[in-house]
Amino acid sequence: MRLPDSLRAVCFDIGGVLVDVGRGFLAEELAEILDAPVPLVRRLLIAHGKTRPCMPEELASAIAGGCGCPDKQELALAAVHRRYDAIAHPVLYPDALPVLATLREAGWRIVFLSNAIGHPNYHRPPAYFDYAETVLHSWEIGACKPDRRAFQAVEQRTRLAPHELVSVGDSLNADIKGALNAGWAAVHLPRTGGPAAPTGLAPVVTDLHQVLSLLPERRN
Ligand SMILES: [Mg+2]
Repeated sequence: MRLPDSLRAVCFDIGGVLVDVGRGFLAEELAEILDAPVPLVRRLLIAHGKTRPCMPEELASAIAGGCGCPDKQELALAAVHRRYDAIAHPVLYPDALPVLATLREAGWRIVFLSNAIGHPNYHRPPAYFDYAETVLHSWEIGACKPDRRAFQAVEQRTRLAPHELVSVGDSLNADIKGALNAGWAAVHLPRTGGPAAPTGLAPVVTDLHQVLSLLPERRN
């Protein structure tokens, strides 16, 4: 499945695509720690941490309390701190920088869009952000992928139309189905686990280098 010729920019998810967070999705990790249903934890995470800036203690308290186990707040807090550390000191996948450099060299516009927990004291962006013309986090936008507003925030910032954007992500629901519903193209890189996009929905790759071969030739 080749991507459309109309594309102008590649929009990367961060965790699980560019940055190895080591533990998969945060909602699943917290659900296991709290012995709570993943959908409940995901809803609490979105409401209290991913759509607004939030102190770690406040987020851990809201999630442990919301799951009916305030006694496990310290365990939740440790997991949240580990995630903040992964954001502050990112470990990039080996294919991330070479592929970003190749895209930039070829004249592609590059965007990062992440469903991330927001920290009010977040000041210093990591060096790899320099590869992107725009970096948007759900906590700044006030909406998480697959919510269409997250994709629209990228469209507004880049002044690009949906058919000019392709989302590259590891979450089938957030990055792939969300992008397709917004009228974007999508490429699934399911290297953090979970099912791959079914045939016909979106191309599935096993590393970022394969994304390059799916993109149309740049003419500038
Ligand atoms: Mg991800």
